[in-house]
Amino acid sequence: MLEKNKKALNKALRIFKKDGAKNTINGKLLASSSRKQYENTSPVDGKVICKVAEGNEKDIDKAAKAAMAAFKSWKDWTHQDRKKVLYKIAELIEKNAEEISVLESYDTGQAIRFTKKAAIRGAANFRYFADKIIDAPNGLSTPDKHHINFSSRSPIGPVGIITPWNAPFMLSTWKIAPALASGCTVVHKPAEDSPLTACVLARIAKEAGLPNGVWNTVHGFGETVGKALTQHDDIKAIAFVGETTTGSHIMRQGADTLKRVHFELGGKNPVFVFEDADLERALDAVIFMKYSLNGERCTSSSRLLLQDTIYNGFVKKLKKRVANIKVGNPLDPSTEIGPLIHRAHQEKVLSYAKLAKEEGAKILTGGKIPKGMDEGCYVLPTLVEGVRPEMRIGQEEVFGPFLSVFKFSTEAEAIEIANSVRYGLTAYIWSKDVGKAHRVARDVESGMVWINSQNVRHLPTPFGGVKYSGIGRDGGDYSFDFYMETKNIAVAYDTHNIPKLGK
Ligand code: NAD
Repeated sequence: MLEKNKKALNKALRIFKKDGAKNTINGKLLASSSRKQYENTSPVDGKVICKVAEGNEKDIDKAAKAAMAAFKSWKDWTHQDRKKVLYKIAELIEKNAEEISVLESYDTGQAIRFTKKAAIRGAANFRYFADKIIDAPNGLSTPDKHHINFSSRSPIGPVGIITPWNAPFMLSTWKIAPALASGCTVVHKPAEDSPLTACVLARIAKEAGLPNGVWNTVHGFGETVGKALTQHDDIKAIAFVGETTTGSHIMRQGADTLKRVHFELGGKNPVFVFEDADLERALDAVIFMKYSLNGERCTSSSRLLLQDTIYNGFVKKLKKRVANIKVGNPLDPSTEIGPLIHRAHQEKVLSYAKLAKEEGAKILTGGKIPKGMDEGCYVLPTLVEGVRPEMRIGQEEVFGPFLSVFKFSTEAEAIEIANSVRYGLTAYIWSKDVGKAHRVARDVESGMVWINSQNVRHLPTPFGGVKYSGIGRDGGDYSFDFYMETKNIAVAYDTHNIPKLGK
């Protein structure tokens, strides 16, 4: 299987080796207007994968203007026609699933067992929002005695979508599908470290028959291209997924043009395991939610809050399983953890292992580079106990295969630990006591809670965080609310009083 995947990868890479990764503006594949390129390297072996067009302000201006021109007709497409083209995109994503998964694995280091699902999830995102197009313009009817009020929604205009490197394909579809379904046009700025599958998506969109200019992709760095996108006057909203500090920059950058923003940011999510939980299922979920996707997952349960009465037995089993997680080439189907996105991130994650010791916590397993695997950006799955809320490792997002274990004795203490961080994205609660699970769900500061479950996405539900984890919600109708403007129209029954001035 590894050989088969490597062969598929070599085939998929041919076009990138030959032409590099280019921008797509107004339906055309273009080099950067400055002709500048940067090198995209793989976390698997450090080799240069391809050269990437290094976009700039001029390219963004061109893309935003193309998106504005295309908006004028795209917004008026009938819902049937728009649905048809989004369905075609979904179909082509599935058709190209193998190409997408091998490119995503080699570009990001994510294990193929997970990237294989990216195409399925990406296609589902397009179909789900395509099915909802017919209801998207619907508003409310709110009559009173003298007026009939009704509201309707229309697309906000061209939007900027800025995505990170951890799950670039899935997250791009998650943002772009509802934008297109709303009738918006898009300028997409993919993460500089994972540009490949964004190119495949742009190609698929064209093949599916999306008109030129409806979906533009400009590669390059956040501080230049990303910044220019957030400042462009033709871009009416920014949907951003990435770090909390970048979210703050974007808010400042978009202030002059009054950008509407939607932020999905960082997390330091708690998983509570109470003594009355189904401990076997809890153990599986704790491991899955921290070590899947290399731990580079915003919704990962990076803080394990364990009740003291079950602490020793649970940690013993956890340590054995974590030490047994298979680290390897992400193209190998048996691999559970691949290399982290790049050298700097590998060093960052390793620095937290060093910090853990300095802060007085204990590394139970991992915390270093696996033997003989220096070529790629690998880190052994790491488990740390003795963590307390005042430690930096108990507060900061590591965004790698790094789990911090806390001990608590009472429900109140557990809640206090959980809420001690600035983030509030997800929380996971394991308990068979219905009342307790609901109390904790009520009191924990987070945008999403799963009880007796790992994170299982259901597309109609609201997705998003509180505190420093984000602003706004995605999913179901929430996505349409972001990408559309609501207009209220009041019609009088000609019965109300009109004040008569100057009479
Ligand atoms: P990042 O913030 O460094 O980069 C994300 C994107 O923003 C990239 O495309 C980057 O080029 C761009 N960018 C950087 N500076 C910019 C600027 N000044 N203006 C405009 N754009 C700019 O994030 P990352 O390191 O790529 O991703 C990891 C982070 O993403 C983690 O914090 C993780 O928790 C978060 N994340 C959150 C969610 C969620 O749903 N809440 C999902 C996935 C990832």
